[in-house]
Amino acid sequence: MPFRDIYGQEDALDLLKQAVDRDRMPHAWLFTGQANIGKFKTAVALAQKLNCRTEAEDACGECDFCLQIAAQNFPDYQVLVPDGKFIKIDQIRKSLSWLSLHPDQAKKRVMILDGAQHLGREAANAFLKTLEEPAPQTLLILIAESTHQLLETIVSRCQQIRFRPLSGEISERIFRQSTELSHENIQLLTAFSMGGVSGDLAARLELMQTVQKTAIGWLTTFSAETLEEMLRTCETWGKSKHEEWRLLLDFLETWFRDLGWIYNALPEDKLINRTGTAQESRLKALKNGAQFFNHQQIYEIFNQIEESRTAIELNANKSLAVESLCLNIYRLAG
Ligand SMILES: [Zn+2]
Repeated sequence: MPFRDIYGQEDALDLLKQAVDRDRMPHAWLFTGQANIGKFKTAVALAQKLNCRTEAEDACGECDFCLQIAAQNFPDYQVLVPDGKFIKIDQIRKSLSWLSLHPDQAKKRVMILDGAQHLGREAANAFLKTLEEPAPQTLLILIAESTHQLLETIVSRCQQIRFRPLSGEISERIFRQSTELSHENIQLLTAFSMGGVSGDLAARLELMQTVQKTAIGWLTTFSAETLEEMLRTCETWGKSKHEEWRLLLDFLETWFRDLGWIYNALPEDKLINRTGTAQESRLKALKNGAQFFNHQQIYEIFNQIEESRTAIELNANKSLAVESLCLNIYRLAG
């Protein structure tokens, strides 16, 4: 996927193109930003640009080198992802010794480290040595959601590029090109994609609707029975391989953002939960849900949602994290 196929990241692409044009490539880039906004695609596009046979302004995407990179079988290109929860020391050692060899065919060996926040301590330290004394013919691209979970010494040795959340318009365009969904479903996905576009989300549309319907039930009743059912469901969702917990957090974020919107008497057509089917009943549910919280509580919950997300990123137990979040919401609704 060459640069021209990446949408909504013009600033990042400009920086990269300038570095290529002026031959000022650092030995390590660090791409940061939320999930599913094009960081990995951009890293692939950069590897293609550096190796493409055409030597045009952008990679052709069609020559044997470009295709091999896209398929991850180019001899001078490697992608490293966590094996389980972490990127392990053995993985790092193997890749680093590969990286130090002279390139087979390319000018530079490119190694992408996708999920750099999952470097274990030992692996991070091994990695640090390479960052301190990089071989001249190598390029490293680290990808992480933020710099918080990375060693300061790693961050300071990379040139960082921040990727932005995608606008609704761009997300919608990507969904339209990559899925066969109806107009209404695309609008629904766009509204709940929170600035990122996961191809996976389209396939998960039905699951997303189920999670939302269930959560709306909780958020508009707050009875003792709801509490019990809520905790049980949170436990299941936290353990499920379909990652319903993630959809729940995304949804809660939209719900409390909308409640804040209602409190501030902002225009109703901007409410996220007005999109898609059953608009009117959603709106009624939102207004019903608004009675349980005051402005301060909405703000507090909004922060707690973010804290839960961060805790899970830092390997907290997912079931416990969403259970305790929902329990807090329930208590505040008192
Ligand atoms: Zn090419």
